[in-house]
Amino acid sequence: MIPNENYKNLKDSYLFYNISQKVNAFIRQNEGVHIYRMGIGDVSLPLCEEVIKALHKAVNDQSAKETFHGYMPECGADFFRKAVGDYYRSRGILIADDEVFVSSGASDELGDILDLLGRDKTALIMEPAYPAYVDANIIWGNRIVRLDAGMENGFLPMPSDIPDRDNLKPDIIYICSPNNPTGAVYDREKLSEWVGYAIKNDAVILFDAAYEAFIEDEALPHSIFEIEGAEKCAIEICSLSKTAGFTGTRCGYTVIPKTLERAGMNLNSMWVRNRTTKTNGVSYIIQRGAAAVFTEEGQRQIKENIKVYKNNARCLMKALDRLGIKYTGGKNAPYIWMQCPGNMGSWEFFDYLLSKAQIVGTPGEGFGKCGEGYFRFSTFGSPEDTEESAARLVRLLG
Ligand code: PLP
Repeated sequence: MIPNENYKNLKDSYLFYNISQKVNAFIRQNEGVHIYRMGIGDVSLPLCEEVIKALHKAVNDQSAKETFHGYMPECGADFFRKAVGDYYRSRGILIADDEVFVSSGASDELGDILDLLGRDKTALIMEPAYPAYVDANIIWGNRIVRLDAGMENGFLPMPSDIPDRDNLKPDIIYICSPNNPTGAVYDREKLSEWVGYAIKNDAVILFDAAYEAFIEDEALPHSIFEIEGAEKCAIEICSLSKTAGFTGTRCGYTVIPKTLERAGMNLNSMWVRNRTTKTNGVSYIIQRGAAAVFTEEGQRQIKENIKVYKNNARCLMKALDRLGIKYTGGKNAPYIWMQCPGNMGSWEFFDYLLSKAQIVGTPGEGFGKCGEGYFRFSTFGSPEDTEESAARLVRLLG
């Protein structure tokens, strides 16, 4: 049947549209007002020098016959796959370069990867969640089972929390750690439980590690492949968007182990087949810039930028601590997920903050029903705006 009628089941994505409508209306009524934007998860710092240098050099390469590159290998340039492979191996994770696939970013991959997993599947999605998980599965026609996260499970639901109904057996399990929007991070023991559960149920974990570079606690895993058995049940999807400021430059990578098989089929080989059919690779210039992120100097420079966002987080956390407001995140993630004060609803708190303090955050309800009553602050803004926002929060709510 044409068209794909699953689109009828998508809810309109009102979240950021509603936010910008409300903010624009406020600005119209309060000419010249400065808005403290802590809503959208886009970075504010430019690309680091090492990446810029590599991008410039790659542009020059394209100007000479001897160094010019046409189509790139669909799964990624050897230099890029090796740079990412070395990054994993330097942390003791023994993946091979041909288990790394370049991508134009995690969003693309989160949708495209469903190609590997077949139709009519059951996807387990822990909410509050990054909205693309739900929408990609609706478009695909999959059944979605939601698993609620809340203060009671530290926003880290476990297999034992899966509702005991309809002989539920998920085929696909989404895990986002560090989490957007809650900032919660799974430790090794908890991830091991999920890996054990996936293996027992023949499920595949789609591990979204877009925020791994923000992990501060040394004991916390950056990758699902730090967990024994994950090489038999997991795919890891990563992004340079927040790690290295690539939101507008676009590059990410996906790791599919060669040991990941289902029903005698090898998912790594299938993804090679998929990529060679559906893409013509990522631009040479972008892959050169992205590979520079993984050099020693590149790593040093991106960490300097991440430090700025972490200072923002500390500043906001200090304000919330002072106010006695409960929250998760901030320490190992660039998001702070706070309980709305005085039992306010999340949109009610949004309006209150905008009108009384000119601060914009993201209402938790936009990440799933169980996000109602919570609010997300992004720490990607400028230090000056973040400091002023923290001071305004203390004045308003203290
Ligand atoms: N996954 C999560 C959890 C995100 O928060 C985001 C972006 O905000 C993405 C994936 C998408 O990242 P990209 O910019 O690489 O598409």
